[in-house]
Amino acid sequence: MQRVAVFGAAGRMGAEVCRAVAAADDLELVAAVDPAAAGRPLAEVAGIPAGPLVVAASAAEIAERGVEVAVDFTHGSAAPAHLHWCADNGVHVVSGTTGLAAGETARLRERFSAPEAPNAIMAPNFAISAVLLARFAEIAARHLEGVEIIELHHASKRDAPSGTALDTARRIAAARERAGGGPFAPDPTLEERLPGSRGALGPEGIRIHAVRLPGLVAHQEVIFGALGQALTIRQDSFERTSFMPGVLLAVRRVPLTPGFTLGLEAILAL
Ligand code: NAD
Repeated sequence: MQRVAVFGAAGRMGAEVCRAVAAADDLELVAAVDPAAAGRPLAEVAGIPAGPLVVAASAAEIAERGVEVAVDFTHGSAAPAHLHWCADNGVHVVSGTTGLAAGETARLRERFSAPEAPNAIMAPNFAISAVLLARFAEIAARHLEGVEIIELHHASKRDAPSGTALDTARRIAAARERAGGGPFAPDPTLEERLPGSRGALGPEGIRIHAVRLPGLVAHQEVIFGALGQALTIRQDSFERTSFMPGVLLAVRRVPLTPGFTLGLEAILAL
């Protein structure tokens, strides 16, 4: 049984991870950290079956639990310290936290690439269908010259556009450049009667449109257009459980995946 800790256990994603780990036969949830719920029973905080675990306030409190893999879904400002703690304490780590400060990912890559360091897998999106969408979009970008992205999210999302949409745009632009596909189709708009109606200008001028509505969770469409044809690739996360197969896959694989891995593509062999 792999011994797992969850950072951000009282959050929307962290609690979901606690439930998924607690339900997995080959994983044992041995620690949970979240200052917002420190001292409270994890069963009550995360909705898992009653047990002895109490939410800890900080990583230092779980140092003696024999944690083998930690999962982090916290805030961009908090995650780097957790990951460095894991590196210092020989704990493999899986992180889905977004919004890390510029340069932080590079520092973490360096730290986890050091000899003797444990392993880290970080991914901006653990939904396997979203990882596939990005891969399919990279293939389409080689052949189709027009593209725009629409990302759609729940009404409490603070940032726009989503990290996933920006990442998709970067990957589409890079894939087209690698293939020598030439520039994307120019924007024909001469007059924007309402500012913003053509969306935001992303990498290589790829337009990104952000929709925020109650009832949505996380969705994305990439629409390609070319002479007389169009291709729409759409991915939907209907609930946060959609991220759990990817998170559990990373938790099981991280001890066997040396160094620092960004994205699920490598462990999905894409
Ligand atoms: P949330 O606000 O519901 O939860 C974050 C939790 O982290 C809170 O309970 C907070 O108290 C806790 N926290 C803050 N500082 C902490 C610290 N120092 N130690 C331990 N816990 C701490 O947010 P959420 O919706 O669960 O999202 C969390 C992160 O995951 C965000 O960055 C979000 O963008 C990202 N996310 C990633 C994916 C993915 O697939 N990679 C999917 C969804 C969300």
